[in-house]
Amino acid sequence: MRILLANPRGFCAGVNMAIECLDEVIRMFGPHVFVYHEIVHNKYVVDRFTRQGVTFVDSVEEVPEGSVLLYSAHGVSPVIRQAARERKLQTIDATCPLVTKVHLEAIKYAREKYNIILIGHEGHDEVIGTMGEAPESITLVETDEDVASLPFTAEDPLVYLTQTTLSVEEAGRVVAALKARYPHIKSPPKEDICYATTNRQEAVAQLAAEADLVIVLGSQNSSNSRRLMELGSGGNKPSYLVDGAHELNHAWFENVECVLITAGASAPEVVVQDCIEYLRTNFGAKVDERTIREEHVSFPLPKELRALQKLRI
Ligand code: SF4
Repeated sequence: MRILLANPRGFCAGVNMAIECLDEVIRMFGPHVFVYHEIVHNKYVVDRFTRQGVTFVDSVEEVPEGSVLLYSAHGVSPVIRQAARERKLQTIDATCPLVTKVHLEAIKYAREKYNIILIGHEGHDEVIGTMGEAPESITLVETDEDVASLPFTAEDPLVYLTQTTLSVEEAGRVVAALKARYPHIKSPPKEDICYATTNRQEAVAQLAAEADLVIVLGSQNSSNSRRLMELGSGGNKPSYLVDGAHELNHAWFENVECVLITAGASAPEVVVQDCIEYLRTNFGAKVDERTIREEHVSFPLPKELRALQKLRI
């Protein structure tokens, strides 16, 4: 058996920063800190921090007054920030800068009286956070079919923005439908789907044709991991999204000669290596790593955390 190991895969710069941020917060304040939503959408990562003593919450009211609260990589709406201030929480913002960029675009266009069409998945943490920046001005669309039922006229000032972790292809279809119905609609100044999402999808799109089966490491609630799995199955290959080697099924690999392995932007390399080990042990697999694109992106820790680090030196 041959393993085609896609590169780039796994942790992106935003996830690296958010995890490093929580590790540093634990070093500074001890493990009994709180995180609003999952720090990143990955079970392995969340379980690791939970074992250390971190509490993940879905509402600010669950956090005792005066505690330390970290905002996850997906960002939060102003309502959450206000609730945290009222509870006198010490907040540290681990939102990915590429998500913040979309928030700032939403604020800018709402101020300029645009109707903002946000392309994204309803209920996703990032979408909730972005919509919260300008709830009166933002309308969510999920598919190209939703575009037909939008209430705007050809004269209304319109701009579209997107969630950072969409399928490039699907988002392109929605944008095409928007431009067909509203030729004057404004595009975001710079692509909102982030570099990590684009690169991981590009690698799967290029490599899946060579493989008999696709394994994506990532959690079910990870948007970019699900998109990678869909890319594999869209190319008519059996494609599985798993949290780790413990979810692999021996029967999937019988008579399979080539397995493409990749990982979503929130999945750690250790779960990839566990899967490789499983296939080495059970099927004598050999690894052929393919680099489609180099990545050299990194983000600094949040400024409030860097300020605290200075105070402690
Ligand atoms: Fe940031 Fe993209 Fe990673 Fe999301 S997937 S955390 S937007 S770099």
